[in-house]
Amino acid sequence: MTPKINKSNDIINLIDRRLKKSEEGAIIPFNEFLMRAREDPLIYFRNVFQLFSSMIYHYIDIEDEYKDDPESINYKTVSCERLLVKDTDTPFFADLPLANRLLRLADSFREGTQQNKIYVFIGPPGSGKSTFLNNLLRRFEEFTHTREGINYEVLWRLDNAKIASASVDLAVQEALHDYYHTNGPLNSDILEVPCPSHDHPILIIPKEYRGEILEKLIKDNTRLKIFHKKEYEWLFTENACTICTSLYEALLDKLNSPADIFEMIFAKRYSYNRRLGYGISVFNTADKEPEQFSFTNPELQKHLSARFRNSDLIHYVYSRFARTNNGLFAIMDVKGENEKRFLNLHGIISEGVHKIDDIEENVNSLFIAVMNPEDKQKIASPDSFKDRIIEINVNYILNYSEEVKIYYHSFGTQIKKYFLPGVIDNFAKIIISSRLNIDSPAIKEWIEEPHKYDEYCDENLLLLKLTIYSNKIPDWLSDEDRKKFTRGVRRKIIRESDREWKSGFSGRESLYIFNEFYNSIPKKNTGLNGSSDVLQITMEDIRSFFKKHEQYKERIPKGFIDSIIRLYNYNIMQEVKESLFHQNEERISRDIQNYLFASNYDVGEKLISPYTKETVEVTEQFFMLMEQYLMPHNASARAKKKFREDVATKFGVNLQQMQEDNDICKTEIYKELYDSYINNLREHIFQPFLQYTAFENAIKEFGTLKFEVYDNRTKEEVTFLIKNLTEKFKYSKEGAKHVCLYIIRNKIAENFTI
Ligand SMILES: [Zn+2]
Repeated sequence: MTPKINKSNDIINLIDRRLKKSEEGAIIPFNEFLMRAREDPLIYFRNVFQLFSSMIYHYIDIEDEYKDDPESINYKTVSCERLLVKDTDTPFFADLPLANRLLRLADSFREGTQQNKIYVFIGPPGSGKSTFLNNLLRRFEEFTHTREGINYEVLWRLDNAKIASASVDLAVQEALHDYYHTNGPLNSDILEVPCPSHDHPILIIPKEYRGEILEKLIKDNTRLKIFHKKEYEWLFTENACTICTSLYEALLDKLNSPADIFEMIFAKRYSYNRRLGYGISVFNTADKEPEQFSFTNPELQKHLSARFRNSDLIHYVYSRFARTNNGLFAIMDVKGENEKRFLNLHGIISEGVHKIDDIEENVNSLFIAVMNPEDKQKIASPDSFKDRIIEINVNYILNYSEEVKIYYHSFGTQIKKYFLPGVIDNFAKIIISSRLNIDSPAIKEWIEEPHKYDEYCDENLLLLKLTIYSNKIPDWLSDEDRKKFTRGVRRKIIRESDREWKSGFSGRESLYIFNEFYNSIPKKNTGLNGSSDVLQITMEDIRSFFKKHEQYKERIPKGFIDSIIRLYNYNIMQEVKESLFHQNEERISRDIQNYLFASNYDVGEKLISPYTKETVEVTEQFFMLMEQYLMPHNASARAKKKFREDVATKFGVNLQQMQEDNDICKTEIYKELYDSYINNLREHIFQPFLQYTAFENAIKEFGTLKFEVYDNRTKEEVTFLIKNLTEKFKYSKEGAKHVCLYIIRNKIAENFTI
């Protein structure tokens, strides 16, 4: 129960409790920092690159369905939902090629070989690259406020008593008196001096002793990693900033006891904050370069000079590069003011230092920029800068499942029910086909005879490529080509994804076209049996939409829409095949049992089978219906008679040998007939779709009263087919009926029977 609030003070207290940021571990003594780092060195010893890499791995979900494939190239099925979509103002949907590029980037940060570089995300207008960077930075900031994203920086807390006792000086006391007179008695004993460069606390230990200390500190299990992996090299090579170094030196002169100095050093949680420019700075194209290049803190400076009785000893001066040291420096679009800003980075990135007055500042930042491909020539010179630039392409989406997510995001997931299964995916594939290069040297090298896939694929095999970009291997690929799908081939194909952006519909255009298409189709309820089924959008609707819109069609590779319809037909035939087959197993078993039972009786008799408890009318029609699946089609009447007699004889013999349980499914003759039936059925699975008008009518009337007039066998067949299509393949009842009638009307089954 919420306590009753009756005093204004209580309200303030409540607000205070609710809004207070967790202060736990916000500032800890240096010694405690070392102890924590000892327990968890891989978390506590991270620079901005390692932290960024951890962030990416923290927010992505990887599933690798082909991980046991010996030819795997580490191209993974990665979901960036939590990284770039969840709780963002504008979500960014990353396709698999981009997600894999991000993973490689995260890995290179971990390897520690990629510092002194600028990372440039290049993408055409409408690719959403700014949204991508904004969401990425937002997630980084969020991460650094979690337990997993913990990171520390140096904070000095100069203890006046200690310094004063080391050198009692009236001048200091007077300066302090003046200082507190103007600034109020904040804490007259302690002076906090933040490190403007956000130095990692370990850097305070002079470089020459760090190795020895770390060796003592770090336990055996991680020592090897930290001492020998390039990513941790910075622990041994980097220096603290000039302010921290001079403070340390000055204190050492005064106190002559490092232990006393370290008592004044604290580790403060490094709270990255983009809005405050704390550890993250983002520059927009209109942001003017500040007139002021260096920052100081006159009050703090005055105080430091007074404490150390020397105004030259510690210069509390730093540049804006210090603010993003061990942090992120991002340039949003290399245009306007950002063009100059980008080029100015050259010297800093190459040298890793920045000069301010006479002081050299370390600059170890993660430099990021986004730009349009046409702006690339602006950064082409000087040549030496090119070596420092790592390009990462942010193209239009090449992965249909992500493209569909965008439609759902913009129109709501309820639109799903207006599409037959697979149809919205195909719309997305058509849009994406416009973005692909028609010529693919990698695919040409791999598939020698593309025409053998005419039934499932377009002539340029773009549908094959799209499937591979989605990290799937199509099931219609021949064994021979599957074998030739080696690591080298895969790598070449995936590399082509880097360049697939030159033309094609942008993200914005795609949404526009989808909107036009979706709204062109009237939405109505089928009204059948009071069901909530709606008329669903079909592949025919897609075909006729693009037929009507020549301006879109001409940007889609020639023949692609026809091919995607062929592939769609192939897929629905697979679904129907599976649905027909499963419905049959139980029925087939009973039919064969009835057939065996009837084989000992004469035509014209009507009996109840003791095995199935079904009524069996022994007619010529009854025998023939079964025998079409048990014997060759052209078998003569004599052969059929002989076959029936043989079955009767064998069944008689088997019956005598039968065990007590009376289960004829265990007899040899049953097994023989069953296998033969199943094999034949497999070959003739689409029979009902070919020559069975009653079947077509029954489908049409399924769900109405008229359906009841059909014979049991047809009713059972249709009911199971529709049931399987709805349960296994997520069709609505109306959708399942529609697909079956579509197959019959377009004579699709005819192409799949051979
Ligand atoms: Zn510092």
